[in-house]
Amino acid sequence: MATTFKRAVSHAQQPFVNEPLTDFSKEENKRAQAEALEQVKSELGRTYPLIIGGKQIESEHTFASVNPSQPNQIIGHFARATEEQTKEAITTAATTFETWKRVPAEERANYLFAAADIMRQRRFYLAAWMIYEVGKSWSEADGDMAEAIDFLEFYAREILRLAEEQPIVRMEGEDNQLVYIPLGVCAVIPPWNFPCAIMAGMTCAALVAGNTVVLKPASTAPTIAAQFMHILQEVGLPAGVVNFLTGSGSVIGDTLVDDARVRFIAFTGSRDVGLRIYERAAKRQQGQRWLKRSILEMGGKDAVVVDETADLDAAATGIVSSAFGFQGQKCSAGSRAIIVEQVYDQVLQKVTEKSRQLTVGDVTQPDVYMGPVIDENAMKKVLEYIDIGKGEGRLVTGGGHHGPGYFIEPTIFADVNPQARIAQEEIFGPVLAVMKAKDFDDALRIANDTEYGLTGALYSRDQQHIERAKEEFHVGNLYFNRKCTGALVGVHPFGGFNMSGTDSKAGGRDYLLLFIQAKTISAKK
Ligand code: NAP
Ligand code: MG
Repeated sequence: MATTFKRAVSHAQQPFVNEPLTDFSKEENKRAQAEALEQVKSELGRTYPLIIGGKQIESEHTFASVNPSQPNQIIGHFARATEEQTKEAITTAATTFETWKRVPAEERANYLFAAADIMRQRRFYLAAWMIYEVGKSWSEADGDMAEAIDFLEFYAREILRLAEEQPIVRMEGEDNQLVYIPLGVCAVIPPWNFPCAIMAGMTCAALVAGNTVVLKPASTAPTIAAQFMHILQEVGLPAGVVNFLTGSGSVIGDTLVDDARVRFIAFTGSRDVGLRIYERAAKRQQGQRWLKRSILEMGGKDAVVVDETADLDAAATGIVSSAFGFQGQKCSAGSRAIIVEQVYDQVLQKVTEKSRQLTVGDVTQPDVYMGPVIDENAMKKVLEYIDIGKGEGRLVTGGGHHGPGYFIEPTIFADVNPQARIAQEEIFGPVLAVMKAKDFDDALRIANDTEYGLTGALYSRDQQHIERAKEEFHVGNLYFNRKCTGALVGVHPFGGFNMSGTDSKAGGRDYLLLFIQAKTISAKK
């Protein structure tokens, strides 16, 4: 215990710094990623059990995770957890909480520091799993890894800060103290689109704060979660602190969310599933002693606004990477571009030209910018929106798709009415709606005219416009003269307003407060 304590202290004394991104123009990095892809290729198609209380539980009913670039390639087979197994996982988490909650914060933090070390060593290998499993390009997969490592390093330091003596007003004749204690069993339900970063981030926030976890990964990205689970076992995290439960959210989700022994839920995903969880979690179940907490990070319909003073080339570059990075499958994706009349034609032309240069294809190849969308359902949904868009705007580029993977061209609709469906609904694919605004006022009004409020960007050199946007552009993450994606842990605490969720600000100082509760202790002298 003494040595582990020292380790946490020495780690934590180094200030948090973001993990650098890999430079793939360097031959050695290119080679390392290519070799990792070969390595992972030889490991595809294995079967992964549930892990409950450290025990591997096989199931006769399984489902497959496939490569969206080549849907006949199976990444892994996973157990379909039953309702009974879901309850068993919760029972184990509840029992383990009784011991885990007494483990000192330093020791809990140490597991995260140790896991981060392994993830750093295995960075190309883990990225390779995401390249195969969800169709991330090399740099997108690398970014996901960097963010995952950042979350571990950041939350480990955060819990050490929160374990210190907390500032309260002193009073004569009494000793007063405020301490943070864990909540209990956390149901962690991540999405597939940041399958390492968000999955590991929510799981580690919960466990480092002293809670136990039932982790139900997204069904299209369970392999990277299984790899992470393996790392937690390697660093010696006690059995039962994190329980690995695969299966369809629509089948076991309600059982998990409704259970009276679940104390809180950390969810990131779509608006509709988030709303469902919010509603169900609010209902007190028989025997439930607490108000269930829900931390819900949901969708977006994010906008990049360009005014007449902007650097138009920079704006076009920002619009394109915000809209089409990872095929537009980011909650922060800039799926709307709102451009003032004066520069509309110029910016539209630049955006169109740049989009036409993007490569689309199998992301196991190094220089492909866009891979496939996640699965057949996503492909159908996006193509439906492209059809809708044809009736709502002017198709200026893209619209096509090709197989056998789920490849869709970067697609741009111009002259879109701000009330059009493609301007209001989250498509979650490579479809950009471009809108013309009369002036900056009009642009800001259009930008805010959405039920979401996650990210937004303004390209402008007009200080008054920038000041107004600071006050009026109603989004959780606002950017000036840069793209609206790519939030960094610690630097850009992340989370949105309105239907984008509970604004939990992942990767910020407020985040862990959602995973704990405060106890005030007063003693008369
Ligand atoms: P999703 O369909 O809502 O799924 C998210 C998770 O919820 C998955 O693990 C899913 O399991 C599970 N689930 C499905 N139905 C459930 C139910 N009835 N009860 C409990 N859990 C259930 O979202 P997604 O397609 O994975 O991710 C894309 C969405 O996430 C987009 O809307 C995007 O904007 C949002 N997102 C938001 C943020 C943010 O920080 N605000 C970040 C990333 C993504 P299955 O996979 O088994 O269905
Ligand atoms: Mg897949």
